[in-house]
Amino acid sequence: MHAFTSHMGRMTEQTQVSAYEADDNPLLAQWSGPFGVPAFGRIKPEHFRPAFARAFAAHAAEVAAIAGNAQAPTFANTIDALEASGEALARAVDLFHLLAGAHTNDAILAFERELAPLKAKHWDRILMDETLFGRIDGLYRMRDRLALSAEQRRVLERYHLKFTRAGAALDAPAKTRLADVNERLATLGTTFSQNVLADEQSYALVLDGEDDLAGLPDFVRAAARTAAEERGLAGKHAITISRSSVEPFLQFSTRRDLREKIFRAWIARGDGGGATDNKAIIAEMVALRAERARLLGYPSFAHYRLDDTMAKTPQAVRALLERVWAPGRRRAMADRDALQALVQAEGKNFALAPWDWRYYAEKLRKARCDIDEATIKPYLQLERIIEAAFYTANRLFGLTFERRDGVPVWHDDVRVWEVRDAVGRHRGLFFGDYFARTSKHSGAWMTALRDQERLRGDIHPLVVNVMNFSKAGEGEPTLLSFDDAKTLFHEFGHALHALLSDVTYPMIAGTNVLLDWSELPSQLFEHWLVKPRWNTSPRRSSISICISSPRPATASTSTASSRLNLRASACPRKSSCATDPPTSNTYSRAPATPRPITAICGRRCSMPTPSRRSRRPAISSMPASRRGCMMMSTPPAARATRPTSTPPFVGVCRRPTGCSGGGG
Ligand SMILES: [Zn+2]
Repeated sequence: MHAFTSHMGRMTEQTQVSAYEADDNPLLAQWSGPFGVPAFGRIKPEHFRPAFARAFAAHAAEVAAIAGNAQAPTFANTIDALEASGEALARAVDLFHLLAGAHTNDAILAFERELAPLKAKHWDRILMDETLFGRIDGLYRMRDRLALSAEQRRVLERYHLKFTRAGAALDAPAKTRLADVNERLATLGTTFSQNVLADEQSYALVLDGEDDLAGLPDFVRAAARTAAEERGLAGKHAITISRSSVEPFLQFSTRRDLREKIFRAWIARGDGGGATDNKAIIAEMVALRAERARLLGYPSFAHYRLDDTMAKTPQAVRALLERVWAPGRRRAMADRDALQALVQAEGKNFALAPWDWRYYAEKLRKARCDIDEATIKPYLQLERIIEAAFYTANRLFGLTFERRDGVPVWHDDVRVWEVRDAVGRHRGLFFGDYFARTSKHSGAWMTALRDQERLRGDIHPLVVNVMNFSKAGEGEPTLLSFDDAKTLFHEFGHALHALLSDVTYPMIAGTNVLLDWSELPSQLFEHWLVKPRWNTSPRRSSISICISSPRPATASTSTASSRLNLRASACPRKSSCATDPPTSNTYSRAPATPRPITAICGRRCSMPTPSRRSRRPAISSMPASRRGCMMMSTPPAARATRPTSTPPFVGVCRRPTGCSGGGG
């Protein structure tokens, strides 16, 4: 309690210094735009520091009052009160981290570095507060006699576990050391993420002339022109190390030297030496995570991290991975041999390298199934895939999506839909931010500007999907790869999880569930892109919406359409599609890992095999409340630090590389 009181004193000083900003700070003000959306257009860099100073102070005061309540602890005066506290802080954190991930700039990056340790300190002071934990622990011990609802009992159990896992029961020296470790990890996580972003922003492969463009289909050239324009290179073509830019180049470019060049740049993010190299940061993070686990009584960070998941133990995770590894490796080796044979058949004499994999996989698919990704792409227009995702949500859950153009957004590319349920009740807003840009971290993720709850009123969620698709040229449709389309469905599954939330307490709202459970709705939903057959006539899956009623981008696609349908019947599973995809849906989106070849031969064989999905384990910090997955190679820094989340517990799918987290 003492530490907490001191903290309050310091924050009060900061608050007084910055009081002039109080009433007109869009990060603090009640969000009064349409549907309760924040005033993005009014946010300026000078708002960040005073907003957080005031929000931390206000939250600290609320929590101090709860801890110091002279009355005996009750669920209402302790848990309800904690759940209702920190509203201004949650708003500021959610808003700031949305911008830090999806539309950052130098001022945001600078404040993000400053904010990370402050946030860690703030939460450590709360979660290690002895008096406060005493109240929670007392309630927890008598939980069977409190006549709690099932939801209240779950919330109480989660609070007790959260405080325990944050070190509330440790002795004073251990708490002090743990707080130092958490603060340092918060700084390292932010630095790691920003280093990767810096490398992504600074690199572009500029293509000069037709020789450099050899083999690239029109949609790749169009996206490369747009990327060049964004970098002030109008009239040229640029390939960036955003996945949606580099992967098509690796698939189609006949210039092996350029494929190698961009591939090496792609996998070298944060690994190129110099100021943005992350190797030393990784080493320090690994050591500090291990120390944190030891302080909390776990044999390793993996034991600590997994203890609060469904998987539960490192042994369970390894057992699952081992079951996948052997058959997965066999398939990859068979693919490699087939690709190497193709190299030889072309009269070439080099050993297949990682930058050759996607290129020859396309050739093999063409040879075996007479179809390639360039043929399919015109049918996978972004607009049609969004439509298919909404159609699926309507069929499954009765939801409808109506475009709302007057709602404030953080970038002109962002679109907003109002979501209603089957009886027409408002359920929330869905924001789609689909295109890559230099101000955005790479990857794909779901986040929320506001979670659903009923404790502080009937509050509806503001849910966000962020993607990094290459934007087509002006007036042209944006075409997705099959992998992109599946990513969109996956993240939309997370968004539905948040939109369909129906609880009272913020602690368990939306995607605030166990880390590995949060992947269930998204992994299930992505299968509706290709797998399901509706029990109505006509039978169709979402992908068939896109394919069977395409709006081809060019006249030539009508030929492709015929071929696609032809192949659908001529290419039954297990015959000509020799590289039938594995059944496992466990993705590890590691850029350097060649992905198994997948034949896309119409509907029967249309499931490309993954390598994408989600994030690899995370290295950066991300709060547990920031659920949803991020299929990114680098996670944006954490969002939300609601009272319900612990900063060090960063992590979550926001999957990809980054998702899991930090500390947590
Ligand atoms: Zn996910």
